[in-house]
Amino acid sequence: MIVELISVGTEILLGNIVNTNAAYLAEQCASLGLSCYHQSVVGDNEARLTETLALALSRSDIVILSGGLGPTGDDLTKEVTAKAFKRKLKEDLHTKERIQEYFDQIHSKKITENNWKQALVPEGAIVVDNYNGTAPGLILTGEIDGEEKTAILLPGPPGEIRPMFERDIYPYLSGRQPEGIYSYMVKICGIGESQVETTISDLIQKQENPTIAPYAKIGEVHLRLTARAEDEVAADALMQPVLTELYARFGEHIFTTKEEITLEETVVDLLWQEGMTVTTAESCTGGLLAGRIINVPGASDIYREGYITYADEAKEKLLGVRPETLSNVGAVSEDTAAEMARGAMEKAGADASVSVTGIAGPDGGTKEKPVGLVYIGCCVKHNLRVEEFHFTGNREKNRDYAVVRALTLLREELLKYKSGEET
Ligand code: ATP
Repeated sequence: MIVELISVGTEILLGNIVNTNAAYLAEQCASLGLSCYHQSVVGDNEARLTETLALALSRSDIVILSGGLGPTGDDLTKEVTAKAFKRKLKEDLHTKERIQEYFDQIHSKKITENNWKQALVPEGAIVVDNYNGTAPGLILTGEIDGEEKTAILLPGPPGEIRPMFERDIYPYLSGRQPEGIYSYMVKICGIGESQVETTISDLIQKQENPTIAPYAKIGEVHLRLTARAEDEVAADALMQPVLTELYARFGEHIFTTKEEITLEETVVDLLWQEGMTVTTAESCTGGLLAGRIINVPGASDIYREGYITYADEAKEKLLGVRPETLSNVGAVSEDTAAEMARGAMEKAGADASVSVTGIAGPDGGTKEKPVGLVYIGCCVKHNLRVEEFHFTGNREKNRDYAVVRALTLLREELLKYKSGEET
């Protein structure tokens, strides 16, 4: 079933209001398993709304219009839609009573003649009561050019459209579309976007139900696996074989299949399972890494203290990095990253540590050590690993990439430690 959205209102076109209704409706339709291929915004203009609606009805089964149901002359949605379905407007007594009741409740508002315009409904329309305003919602179904089409008219104010959609429109649409949409978010770290896409190009090519859609994030690639099915169990039966295949291809690079789980949560969870504490020693990321870890509720069980050692003296003073290392190979080097990681672990008395030292830019780069060069060190118990990275973003992006890579490295080392323990 194809659904299309039309947002009516000149103020949306002018940018005076943000079209949050379209975002809300699109999300709701997606969760109902309805395909939405087009959305339009049109001003309060009869000719353009007529044209937009005709086009929408020619290519979609259901058109949802929001806004333009008010009492004033420029509110035209109902009139234009009635014409498209060749229906007359007639007074709906039930709506008239509700409008009267609404104004009786709000003594400060006086009913005006044009308010009764809202009691006019197209013949044969289903009237959907508005519990938060006067304009009722309307559902109009009929044949247009030999095909059955539906227009759903909803009021513009978000405080009216959302409760109305939840209460009446969602169940109506769900009755029209028995299948729902179910999805997994397969989150991958430690592999670049192009490699991920190449690895699954055959799966993407033959996808049908479920579908796989890749999204590149900073330092992560997410694959949204979506199935259309009549219930969750049926959807899961369709998705499990694909999930198994993805695990076979990406293994431990997959850190979760749940939308709401973050990389740092999986790292904190691993530390927690192992009963280990971690510390951080940061230069160019200046506390961002610690911030991500501490953002996870319950981080106090695994994180006690950390270090921001931006200057060379701070690296010496707080982490015991040797002055010879700094003068011989510099602060941005494998050796410094290693000494930072070891020093931090010792000073904090932690079981694991991560260090980051690099050149975030835009200044400070040289031919040998360009902007974006970052060394990340990681100690888990006595095992030390240092990796060199070359990021190509701006200062902010390079720092963000470094944080994700640091979390990824820590995760890999913790998994290695865990598997060593098990064998
Ligand atoms: P009313 O009966 O209140 O006049 P209406 O159905 O005629 O409602 P509009 O007049 O088009 O709706 O819009 C009323 C208000 O609702 C706008 O001023 C705006 O605050 C909000 N609104 C309308 N459309 C949208 C939208 N697409 N996204 C977010 N808010 C909207």
